[in-house]
Amino acid sequence: MVVFECVACGAALTVPVAQVDFPDHGHDSVGNGVLHMPALVEPGTWAAGPGWIAIAPGDVRGVSWLPDRLAGDCCGVTGWEGPNLACACGAEVATRVSDCSVWAVVWLEPAAVRAVGEPDAVVRWEELDWESTPLVGGEDEWWRDRMGNAAGVALAGVLVAAGTARVVAADGPVADTFQRALDELLPAEAPVKALGVAGPGVVAEADVLLVPRHPQTSEVWPASGTVVPIGAELWRWLAREHEQPVVPATGGRWEPYLSDDPLPRRPKRVEPGRFAMEGALRRLGRSVPRPSR
Ligand SMILES: [Zn+2]
Ligand SMILES: [Zn+2]
Repeated sequence: MVVFECVACGAALTVPVAQVDFPDHGHDSVGNGVLHMPALVEPGTWAAGPGWIAIAPGDVRGVSWLPDRLAGDCCGVTGWEGPNLACACGAEVATRVSDCSVWAVVWLEPAAVRAVGEPDAVVRWEELDWESTPLVGGEDEWWRDRMGNAAGVALAGVLVAAGTARVVAADGPVADTFQRALDELLPAEAPVKALGVAGPGVVAEADVLLVPRHPQTSEVWPASGTVVPIGAELWRWLAREHEQPVVPATGGRWEPYLSDDPLPRRPKRVEPGRFAMEGALRRLGRSVPRPSR
């Protein structure tokens, strides 16, 4: 773990934190006016974002508000006017974001902080533990939003990889997630590229492969051919279908499905976020396709 400290005075600005891959869902907001947004990154972790360092808001220490920088959209602060948190020495070190529809986060200013301490050992791909944390689904209140945004970003990568081709996704979660949007956005009459998923323990032959980024280092799973790197949570959902939760025996809102045998997986679909896809295409410098069908 490392502690980020103030470059100007050396004061510790965070608790010890371990590096994680920047989550794709963090590139976009959620809905409109959504309150009580969760932290972008888990407590005890940090992630390198696009030009920033993301920290869970509760992990920051020794900072105070800059009173003239408390601008927000409507329900809180967003840091439109620049850093809104200062170190005790006065250095502007971070921006707290806490407003409706945006993931709660503190962005550290990379030039104002430095990491001290020993980074965690990197777990090798083949030693990553996928099983001890159950794969969550709809029972996690923010699952749909995280996965929808992440799938939107992934869809943008697949569209770029498709070029002028039509894409046929592998049966199962990959097709469930992407085929409908691919059919809408790509030409109906064109050469076909196959879309599959590959990664640790998962070998696939396809023209375009969805592969995971390492959950600590963001290293892309080494695979030959055309790859679209995605975060580990979405990758696991797509690649390890057997770990997806099933409808609970108690039913609840899943009651209508209880006559199925075997019980169906839930929730069946991840819906790729359209805004997340468009934002990702713009970041890649690509135009946003219009539905062709
Ligand atoms: Zn300082
Ligand atoms: Zn609001």
